[in-house]
Amino acid sequence: MNIILLGPPGAGKGTQAQRLVERHGMRQLSTGDMLRAAVKAGTPTGLEAKAVMERGELVSDAIVSALIGDELDAMGADTGAIFDGYPRTAAQAESLDAILSARGRKLDHVVELEVDEEALVERITGRFTCATCGKGYHDTFERPKVDGVCDKCGGTEFKRRPDDNAETVRTRLAEYRAKTAPILPIYEARGIVAKVDGMADMDHVTAAIEGALRT
Ligand code: ADP
Ligand code: ADP
Ligand code: ZN
Repeated sequence: MNIILLGPPGAGKGTQAQRLVERHGMRQLSTGDMLRAAVKAGTPTGLEAKAVMERGELVSDAIVSALIGDELDAMGADTGAIFDGYPRTAAQAESLDAILSARGRKLDHVVELEVDEEALVERITGRFTCATCGKGYHDTFERPKVDGVCDKCGGTEFKRRPDDNAETVRTRLAEYRAKTAPILPIYEARGIVAKVDGMADMDHVTAAIEGALRT
């Protein structure tokens, strides 16, 4: 199964992708994570992407589509893919079709996480992750069970993203509205979009996604 999680920054895509990975052995393909790894490693892609990401704008379609193709090639043919944060433009949606069909895969579901924009700044400014395993947390909505210790791996170092500030979030939201939301009709026309209430608590969102994937 190959699915897209679609929604604005802070909608819960990464949170839900991590849960699907644990439950179904699928693989999360997050272009944001891939780009942050490239920035950290100082690769040519990372050097090109760094400033763009800090401004909250979109990195070029060619760069992210190349990253996605490489990741798919590195995984088993029968491992399901969860696209998280990709595609984000009409050109990327077109590339994804080509990338999938070249590998004998097809898109089964697009899950749209519907959220109130007013909630997103709080979600994003409170977000942090385990520096060791990458598990996501939130200052208010999902704290580690023991303060300062990761539930999943016991790690004690956490990190916050430089672009998770209120000002950059506004640019990222504007980019979503202008370039990403308009790709939904492409998938609606194919009858593969499931709309899920992303304002519900995390467990309910997971259950709703599971339900959508069974249809
Ligand atoms: P995205 O990947 O779509 O940008 P995340 O999954 O990283 O979003 O979620 C953003 C923040 O909001 C995280 O800190 C996460 O813990 C929190 N969060 C995710 N889903 C919910 C939810 N349903 N209710 C409350 N907080 C949530
Ligand atoms: P979020 O889920 O909170 O929106 P991501 O981690 O998906 O954040 O993305 C962080 C940044 O990385 C984006 O603001 C953008 O600069 C860049 N980026 C990630 N994915 C893409 C993509 N598919 N196309 C263009 N830029 C991307
Ligand atoms: Zn951890």
